[in-house]
Amino acid sequence: MNTFTPASRVSRIKVSPSSAASARARDLKAAGRDIVDMTVGEPDFDTPDDVKAAAHAAIDRGETKYTAVNGTPALRRAIIGDFKRRLGLDYAENEICVGGGAKQILFLALMASVENGAEVIVPAPYWVSYPDMVIANDGTPVIVECPEAQGFKLTPAALEAAITPKTLWLILNAPSNPTGAAYSRAELEALGAVLLRHPQVFVLSDDIYDQVWFRDEPMTTLAAAVPALKDRILLTNGVSKSYAMTGWRIGYAAGPAPLVAAINKLQSQMSSCPSSVSQAAAAYALSADQSFVRDSVAVYKERRDYACARLNAIPGLSCTVPDGAFYLFPNCAGVIGRRMPEGKVIETDLDFVLYLLDGVGVAALQGAAYGLSPHFRLSIATSMEAIREACDRIERAVAALR
Ligand code: PMP
Repeated sequence: MNTFTPASRVSRIKVSPSSAASARARDLKAAGRDIVDMTVGEPDFDTPDDVKAAAHAAIDRGETKYTAVNGTPALRRAIIGDFKRRLGLDYAENEICVGGGAKQILFLALMASVENGAEVIVPAPYWVSYPDMVIANDGTPVIVECPEAQGFKLTPAALEAAITPKTLWLILNAPSNPTGAAYSRAELEALGAVLLRHPQVFVLSDDIYDQVWFRDEPMTTLAAAVPALKDRILLTNGVSKSYAMTGWRIGYAAGPAPLVAAINKLQSQMSSCPSSVSQAAAAYALSADQSFVRDSVAVYKERRDYACARLNAIPGLSCTVPDGAFYLFPNCAGVIGRRMPEGKVIETDLDFVLYLLDGVGVAALQGAAYGLSPHFRLSIATSMEAIREACDRIERAVAALR
């Protein structure tokens, strides 16, 4: 019998490790285990009621048909307004594209541009999907390690050293998943100075967490800090994280018109457009009162402060305080080489997260999945009660090591 063989682009990539870990935690819970799940990559808040009402109203108005490939005029206007209001950036309507999540937009941007092994610089630790998205589109990810001593950030020297004549993209993600690290204006200007010397390099600026921001000074982005680069930057964002709308699947980008046109051409053959109802909800969320964003960020900040303090008090662990997003990326170097109660030595961060899962029922993700060890990622997009319980259990688990 003829068995199915997937195309090589499928065998070259892996299933997202974060989806796999969340599924494992869910399975264990379903099997009756008491698991505190710290793997979740989405807000624990419900979508705001007024956003839901905007979606109902769109349905009642009959906005239930295909829309323009590049999004409804209302959503495009809302996106342009948001970038102008928050970042001072001006974009025209033909510089905006929309998709089924920022993830789809990032994938389409690479599909629209990468071929013949073109190189994409991916600073590590990175969001797990970047390298596989590059590989699936016949590109070569060039991983540049950004150690904790550098605040998990790319330095101008490391960027310069990574650029070759084949470099097409640099991916910048700030605040970052998994570290929450973000660049200051001065740091962006210094990276910009390198990029200005290499006109073949474009920048994918994944700003999906830019409203989950804890610092007093406003968040900035490369396109605003270095205006001379704006035409080489695809600024991607979406409503998933800021407005607790992960399931509505709306992401978007702003950037040079020829690239946006190429993305829209692919989109016209791939999905025609994202959900009309979700677009109406997203347009509303971006233009309405922003108190949900302010209130939820205050809650994340309180959780961040609590969890960082608890983790930093555990001998063997240390945690850099994130600037934004809703993840912690503690360093677990101090537990490597120690013995679990049953005698096995913890050799890697994967061993440590498996020990946490089996030993005390805390689900976390190993730093190796994000390209930097020995670390682990904890999501704080969960209740304070769960965070307190997770910290108690991690403390117990580490204390039991020999
Ligand atoms: N970029 C980063 C860094 C993310 O963490 C995520 C979601 N996990 C996305 C992009 C995609 O978000 P969405 O597709 O929901 O817009």
